[in-house]
Amino acid sequence: MNIAINVGGDSENTMSAIANDLFRPMDVKGVYARTAKYEKIIEALGALVSRHRDPDAEIYRFPPVMSRRQVEKSGYLLSFPHLLGCVCCLHGSEDEIRQALDCSADGGDWTDWLSAADLVLSPAACYPIYPVAAEKGPVPAEGLHFDVAADCFRREPSNDLDRLQSFRMREFVRIGSPEQIMEFREGWMARALALAESLGLPARLDLANDPFFGRGGQLMAASQVQQSLKFELLIPIHSAERPTACMSFNYHLDHFGDAWGIRHPTGKSAHSGCVAFGMDRLAVALFRTHGLTLEDWPEGVRKVLGI
Ligand code: 5GP
Ligand code: ZN
Repeated sequence: MNIAINVGGDSENTMSAIANDLFRPMDVKGVYARTAKYEKIIEALGALVSRHRDPDAEIYRFPPVMSRRQVEKSGYLLSFPHLLGCVCCLHGSEDEIRQALDCSADGGDWTDWLSAADLVLSPAACYPIYPVAAEKGPVPAEGLHFDVAADCFRREPSNDLDRLQSFRMREFVRIGSPEQIMEFREGWMARALALAESLGLPARLDLANDPFFGRGGQLMAASQVQQSLKFELLIPIHSAERPTACMSFNYHLDHFGDAWGIRHPTGKSAHSGCVAFGMDRLAVALFRTHGLTLEDWPEGVRKVLGI
């Protein structure tokens, strides 16, 4: 079955071939079943990222859902309400649930009977780590390192292969002093460029901003750029002129430290930062750059990936 994707100019055939070889549609935009060939590259990328993990990092793998209360407390709801997915269920007694089914059988809409559960779909891999860090007590002098991952959801239906509603995110998170976070982020920006080069990916870094909600959001985005809080690693997927963000390098100042009471022994709120690997975008970028036949990929790239 063909997958409809938005592509322009020369890349049209390549992107269609990628879609048809690596993905199967699942009825809604931006949600795909992935083939074994694609998953082989996702796994190889995951192992490569693991080899770059800080030896002191604590590792967590989060489920695709997280606490609604925690996401609210972290400020995500205020900043990105348009992207958040909330789990809704048929709560109530057996009789009430049966009413919903009967209504549906009579041509009504069973979803009218839904109500919100205490869960949201995780919008980024690092959100659940801050309450975990807070539980550990005062931040040690050397700070904290975490390696986290989750299947993430953002409500952005699209036919673009690099704009999924459900995608895999891996993150290295650093919590500590402003100097520790800056050193971590600067170090990773240089390392990411080197990693991309070793994978034969034509990448560059640029300042970026998050898609904050509404008119007030424009001010937040401008302030984020002004303070250089977010950088992205950009790699051409659709076109060289409008490359795709495949990684991000974020400095949160004391936002999460403040929200969750993560403190230094002095009582001051800790700062935090994260480096996010968009695993699905990195995989698509590899196939876009090197083609669909793994045996034809450059020897050096195959060696780095161990495939
Ligand atoms: P951020 O939190 O910086 O927006 O996202 C971190 C990384 O997740 C991005 O750099 C990107 O690689 C990946 N990502 C964000 N949105 C999407 C998306 O819609 N589709 C895919 N495949 N990856 C995404
Ligand atoms: Zn993060």
